[in-house]
Amino acid sequence: MWDCTACAACCREAFDTVPVEDDDRVTLARRADWIETDADGWRHLRRVPVASGCGTRCAALEGDGPFHCVIYEDRPSACSGLDAGSEACLFARRRLGLDHSSGAV
Ligand code: SF4
Ligand code: SF4
Repeated sequence: MWDCTACAACCREAFDTVPVEDDDRVTLARRADWIETDADGWRHLRRVPVASGCGTRCAALEGDGPFHCVIYEDRPSACSGLDAGSEACLFARRRLGLDHSSGAV
């Protein structure tokens, strides 16, 4: 069984950015303060450096295990569409050196 609260690899250094698309209307409407827009119009969630200094994590992520998304109900589709156990999930876990062959965390 996958325990996202003990993992959060996809919210941490595994990925560099979380895009906010036009279809993410809830995020755009209710969480504008979490969104950054680059000069070329690319919208994404704010990131903060990780303690090790090697990479960033989503600014909406709290904790160090258990982890907690403070905008979970309003998170972008890039997050809600990433299912635990999916290829993207296993890729994220592999990048952080976590078990990516079973549900064990
Ligand atoms: S990488 Fe997978 S198990 Fe870890 S938090 Fe993301 S969806 Fe959950
Ligand atoms: S918005 Fe929430 S679910 Fe999405 S990357 Fe950030 S902390 Fe993770």
